[in-house]
Amino acid sequence: MSSDQTWKDKYFQELESAEQREEHWKAERNVLERMLVRTSLASAGQTPELDRLLDQIRSDLRKGKVEVDSWRRLQEQIDRQIALLDDMPSAAMVEGENTVSESASETGSLEPAPSVEDQSQRLRIARRVGHLLGQLLSQVSLEPDAESRARNLQKALLSSGNWDELRDGLNQVADLIVAAVTRSQREFEAFLKRLDERLESLQEHFFQQSSAQSSRQAAAETLDRNIRDEIEQVGRHIESSGDLNELKQSVTSHLESIGQAVGRFRVEETEREKMLSEQLAAMQEKMAAMEAHSEQMQGQVKKERARAVTDLLTQLPNREAWQERLSFEFNRWKRYQYPLTIGVLDIDLFKRVNDSYGHKAGDRVLQLVAREIKKRLRKTDFVARFGGEEFALLFPETHAEDARAVLDKLRAHVGDLPFHFGGEPVTITFSSGLAAFAADDTEESVFDRADRALYLAKDNGRNCIKIG
Ligand code: GH3
Ligand code: MG
Ligand code: MG
Repeated sequence: MSSDQTWKDKYFQELESAEQREEHWKAERNVLERMLVRTSLASAGQTPELDRLLDQIRSDLRKGKVEVDSWRRLQEQIDRQIALLDDMPSAAMVEGENTVSESASETGSLEPAPSVEDQSQRLRIARRVGHLLGQLLSQVSLEPDAESRARNLQKALLSSGNWDELRDGLNQVADLIVAAVTRSQREFEAFLKRLDERLESLQEHFFQQSSAQSSRQAAAETLDRNIRDEIEQVGRHIESSGDLNELKQSVTSHLESIGQAVGRFRVEETEREKMLSEQLAAMQEKMAAMEAHSEQMQGQVKKERARAVTDLLTQLPNREAWQERLSFEFNRWKRYQYPLTIGVLDIDLFKRVNDSYGHKAGDRVLQLVAREIKKRLRKTDFVARFGGEEFALLFPETHAEDARAVLDKLRAHVGDLPFHFGGEPVTITFSSGLAAFAADDTEESVFDRADRALYLAKDNGRNCIKIG
């Protein structure tokens, strides 16, 4: 039955969206967990007890045993520890001074008061956490008030110079992470519940359809039987009766009975049809709503999929997208054997940029270099942020020598970019290794060759390109 097929298709479509949703939820959870590990590492080194609690978080994450209730207890313990930290005198701190705070001695832990250096270390950590929080916010969806709370918190973490103002902030980060994880879970559960309700109404519809069908069949059989009976009786009367008048009367009354049975059948049939068409209209309405919802979900899944394969900082495809494209081009190369060149590009002495001008300056360099690479490659070429300050490139239908010419131009261009940090002009260069796919190559072997060529380029004094 064709309508059966449509229901089935809808059912599978919904099921598929549910699977995609689950995958996305897993990825989101993964990001949150990684973020939490980084945040907890960034916050370590304050007190042994706090370190122990943070260790506990990481160990739970590693073992995959995250229970919201036990984590809430953990969070309360962390809150207490952070409150103790804040009770330590902070106003008149001089480097090297080893005052012991009252509350610290009450709890028996003889922690020295933080030095000025510790203070600035803490502020640095707070800013880093603010940064991480920003990344986190672009990866997960929070409820609107949590979202605005998070945005304000991020502002405070990034701009405030006062540790006291920041202490609540750090507590709230943990709260937000728990809230985001539970929200994702809740959203997914709500979606499954909706799906379940819809499937239930579909099932009910099928049931009503088939019972209406069988009652129609029963009614038709009854009508058939009634007519036969009446006709048989007429037949018997004709055989047995000698009186024409009596016979006429009998035939008339049987015809009347037949007419009544047909009339009843018609009335019932009209009612059944009315009920079925009402039901059909209701079902169509439900299906339209389901379709609209499914479209919306598909749009969301598409957006989330795009987000999952995009690097946040540079907006280039990320490593996952790279793997996908590499496999695609590799398979095409195997089939058609057109030239295919792979490149690995690494910014030179990038650590120095971070160390001399700060992480933000480093991020800016990454964004600008990424933009220039993207701008100067052909549409059919592909570039992804492979990690850190490394980019991976694919040049389909291009020999290594031709790819080298493209990258050399790009190298000269990036070297000429007028970067300025803290009023100082800064030159950014990169090195690159190239390798062309050759017989017996695998995705890994050719990448390794390009990577080795990159290290030759670094050994050769950087700011150059080697073919492996
Ligand atoms: P080389 O020329 O040998 O490649 O030296 P390098 O300093 O570029 O290489 P190294 O691998 O020692 O340092 C890479 C640095 O890149 C270290 C790391 O802190 C920094 N980095 C990685 N990811 C990011 C990021 O997202 N933002 C910023 N600002 N820095 C990053
Ligand atoms: Mg480098
Ligand atoms: Mg590197």
